[in-house]
Amino acid sequence: MIRFDHIEVRFGEHTAIPELNLEVKQGEFFTLLGPSGCGKTTALRTLAGFIEPTKGEIYIDGQAATKLPSEKRSVGMVFQNYALFPSMSVWENIAFGLKVRKTKKMQTGALVAEIAGQVELTSEQLSKNVSELSGGQQQRVAIARALVLKPRILLLDEPLSNLDAKLRVQLREQLKNLQRELGITTVYVTHDQEEALTMSDRIAVFNHGVVEQVGTPEEIYNRSSTEFVCTFVGAMNKLSGEVVQRLQRGGGTALHPNKASYLRLEKVSLQPPANAADSIRLEGTVAERAYHGAHSTYTIDCSGSMIRALVPEGGAAPLAPGSRAELHIDPSSILQY
Ligand code: ATP
Repeated sequence: MIRFDHIEVRFGEHTAIPELNLEVKQGEFFTLLGPSGCGKTTALRTLAGFIEPTKGEIYIDGQAATKLPSEKRSVGMVFQNYALFPSMSVWENIAFGLKVRKTKKMQTGALVAEIAGQVELTSEQLSKNVSELSGGQQQRVAIARALVLKPRILLLDEPLSNLDAKLRVQLREQLKNLQRELGITTVYVTHDQEEALTMSDRIAVFNHGVVEQVGTPEEIYNRSSTEFVCTFVGAMNKLSGEVVQRLQRGGGTALHPNKASYLRLEKVSLQPPANAADSIRLEGTVAERAYHGAHSTYTIDCSGSMIRALVPEGGAAPLAPGSRAELHIDPSSILQY
């Protein structure tokens, strides 16, 4: 459905994207994930037709689209700040693109009503001024304004980042459900790894304008292909050489002593696991426990090396700082680079 083929984007002397090759499939929820300044917005704006690449070709639906103006690409875009017209009503904001296209009044009314229903805006809200709406409602107006033109591709640039944490989680689900219902191919830009993991069919992780890995959320999280991906997505223990050597002596022979070694917090067990034969035991002292409600994170001092463990609530009684702890680690869950 979408292909970035050897795309290069330079701004004067600065190369934002040296060479991008990516494919997005029909109906996919595809996320560009990475830290600030890594080039994900530039990639999205190049796809939208707001930036002309210095090299390469964009294909949409098999057609070379690099030279097409934005309005001919059948893309709808939602911006981080929504870019709504503050002096217009919600209805007028949503109908704006239809008006530009000189759509008949009756059809405009029907299309606005249809999309308003899909994004759950009430008729009362439609007649309000956009400035009277909450951030979450404004975000839905921005999505409705993009979708009312029935684009084949929806582009979203950090659409949830201006909202408070609880609303962000709610809207994540609503947005994902809407995308699934409509089956619309979606490219989503975010620096929030949790958003990327919960919403996406596939994720491309960007670093300095380069895609380090493309994969499903599970692949990105469990089989991170580079050190950058593994540390950017989710929390990690970086194991000291000393700990790796101890695990190796305990029977983790597949470990390379000189490589950078990482271990997810939830892969450190404080109870002997059912398949205890696969794991190696380390001893330590609880340095700290942080309670998060559904789980606690422990920091355990193993002869000077700090190892963090994530333990779901509801299991064994919590361990107080200063108490002895036994860590059980399966060496095959260690990622090495
Ligand atoms: P953020 O989430 O902070 O927007 P990003 O990953 O989306 O980050 P981009 O906005 O794509 O990153 O920026 C990539 C690089 O290109 C940055 O170094 C940025 O300063 C630069 N850049 C982006 N747009 C322009 C422009 N119009 N002119 C010059 N440099 C630009």
